[in-house]
This record gives sequence, C-alpha cells and structure tokens, in this order.
Amino acid sequence: MVLDPATLTLAFVLLSAALGTLLLFSWALNRSVEALAWWGSAYWLIAIGIGVANIRQGQPAYAVLLVANAFSMLCYGAIYTGCRVFNGRSVSLAAILAGAAIWVAAFPFIYTSPSHRLLLVSCLTLVYSILSAWELGRHGPRPLASSRVVLALLLCLAAFNLSRIAFALAPTSVPWIDGLAHRWSNSMALFLVVFGPSLAFTFLSMAKESVEFEYKQAALVDPLTGVPNRRAFMQSASSLIGRPGDRPVSCLLFDLDNFKAINDRYGHDTGDRILTIFGEVLSRHLPPRPFGRLGGEEFGAILPLAAREAELLADRVRHAFSTASADFLGDLARVTVSVGCVTRAGVDAGALLRQADAVLYQAKRSGRNIVIAA
Ligand code: GH3
Ligand code: MG
Ligand code: MG
Repeated sequence: MVLDPATLTLAFVLLSAALGTLLLFSWALNRSVEALAWWGSAYWLIAIGIGVANIRQGQPAYAVLLVANAFSMLCYGAIYTGCRVFNGRSVSLAAILAGAAIWVAAFPFIYTSPSHRLLLVSCLTLVYSILSAWELGRHGPRPLASSRVVLALLLCLAAFNLSRIAFALAPTSVPWIDGLAHRWSNSMALFLVVFGPSLAFTFLSMAKESVEFEYKQAALVDPLTGVPNRRAFMQSASSLIGRPGDRPVSCLLFDLDNFKAINDRYGHDTGDRILTIFGEVLSRHLPPRPFGRLGGEEFGAILPLAAREAELLADRVRHAFSTASADFLGDLARVTVSVGCVTRAGVDAGALLRQADAVLYQAKRSGRNIVIAA
C-alpha cells in the first residue's frame, strides 16, 4: 500500500477541522461542559498547525516550522486545559502557553537540526499528554467510564511520542527510523488520523456521561445533606428486600427531637447545618445503602441486620449525633434523635417504614433521645 503524504495531510487537516467544529457545536448546545470548547479549539489549533506546515510541497521554510509547531503546542495546552476545566479546576494560562513558549525560545538554537526539533516537539507533547492523563486519573471528581478511555488514549499518545524521542536519539541512521522521525511521516499521519477521531469521540462521550451523572445526582441525592433522597432510598430498599431467600431485614427510622424549637431558637441556617451533621453521622456509621433522608428532619435505613445488631447500630448513631451536635452548638444545647427499629421478613419497604413509624412514635412518647426496637 502506498500512502501519499500530501493526501494524508489534507485528510488530517480536514478531519481535525471538522471534529473541532463538531466539538464546538456540542459545546454551543450545552454550555455547562466548558471543556468541550477547549477540546474543540484544540482540534482547530492542530488543523492550523499541520496545515501551515504542509501548505507547500517539500521542506517548509524555518519561519513556517516555527509558527506551525507553536500552534501544535497550543493544541496540547488546550487539551490539557480542557481536562482541568472538565474536573472543575482553574484555567492556567501558564500551562497553555508553556509548550509554545519553550518551542519559540529554543527554536533559534535548534532550527537547523531536524532531529533536535523532533526531539523538542516530541518531549513537549509527551509532557502534555502525561499531564492530561494525570489530570483525568488523579483529579476526576466523577467515576466516568469514558474518562478512563480518554486516559488510555492519552497514554498511547505519550507512548507514541516516547518512541519518536527514542528514534530521534538513535545513534545510527536506519531508513525506516528516519522515516518515522521525519516531521510528517506516513506513520505519524496514520497514527493521528486514527487517534484524532477516537479522542474526539471519547471527549464527547465524557461530556455526555458527566451531564447524565449530574442529572442522576440531582434526582437521587438530597442537595442539603448529600445523602440519598427518598427516591434513591426507596429504590435501593426495594432491591434489597426483593432478594431471594427472604431473610429478615431491619428498618431504622430516625427523627430529630424538638427540631422546630431548634430552628426557632438558632435560625433555619443552623437547623440546616445540624441536618447536614446528622447526614455525616449516618454516612460514617451505616453501609452506603440503603439509607437516606425521607423528608424534613426524618431519615431512614433498611439493612440486612438481625434485630439486636440493628438496635446496637441505631444506638451508636444516636450517641454519635448527640456528641456531634454538642460539638457544634455547645454542651447545653445538644440536639438528639429518636429511633424506631423493626425487624421483619417478607414485608415490603413501605410496610416496614409504617411499622417503624409506629415504634418511633413510642420513642417520642417515652421522652425522646432513645432507640426503641419492636
Ligand atoms: P419531635 O421531637 O416530636 O419530632 O418535634 P419536632 O419539632 O422535631 O417535630 P415537628 O414535626 O413539629 O417539626 C419538624 C421541624 O423540622 C419543622 C421544620 O421547620 C423543620 N424542618 C424540616 N425540614 C427542614 C429543613 O430542611 N431545614 C431546617 N432548618 N428545618 C427543617
Ligand atoms: Mg418529624
Ligand atoms: Mg422531629
């Protein structure tokens, strides 16, 4: 198969411009994912960079090389910035410009040597691709499957540039190595023609997955306390109860004591903070699901525990909350919680909660700050 560099170049430039436009278009449709604008711009920058370098047949002028590679470095800076912005981190102008600035500063010293130019460009691309992969791997606040694919692609880019560095440093001249080390070899063009669309596609998947993640969070997480809301709680409670074997499960229903009086005395904001503290206590003491805020100052949990274990766990929560609220409000003003606890087999979540509510009512009548188990 004979691959014509001019055709490959044209294909790559048009492809990059089209992908850049599509990414920018997706960003225009959903401005909440600002990273798409950075990634779209990156594709345009590389299209301009490679386009400028190969605008004429034959070896490009030094000035053209200077400008073209500066654009390419800005492209990688934009990809890295997109990854930072995607993770909710700040835009770093220094990080965007560093690669291009180093290239421009070094150019007067290396411009006559193709292998030195290749070495520098490959090193800078290697650093940017590792930084971008590191950003997605280390700082990602959301567990997204597509961001792992982007990370793998960025590591491929790093490996590719590492191989180019090795070729540039090769002491002997071997024709196929020279071919690969050429500024715009067939293998590099082929790599980028496959790599470019793959990366753009996974950037789009990442954006889509993150938007879905946010919606899911909003639908299933209580915004004040950060614990699952009633809907999420009922969903995971039903899946736990619906398991075969029909073993007994325990339902714990928590209701903060005299909470209206706390609001009246300290204000609604303090009340909100206390609800958050209770959510933190639950998250520390209970397995991740199913528990949640059922509404107001009422929280529930359904756990695969026997009656005695459930009662002990409820008492640990009651005690921990009393201590935590006293740390916050001062010893004289501690807020307490009453808990109703039932253990049953073969009963659905709604019925369990109703029974626990009846037991909770007894706890309130017994003077509050107590666990009562049926
Ligand atoms: P009891 O010990 O019998 O449960 O008394 P209580 O005052 O806790 O119960 P009541 O049902 O009378 O009052 C519940 C209070 O919880 C009233 C309401 O203002 C407060 N509350 C409900 N949701 C929130 C919230 O999101 N933030 C704050 N700050 N208060 C809330
Ligand atoms: Mg209540
Ligand atoms: Mg209450």
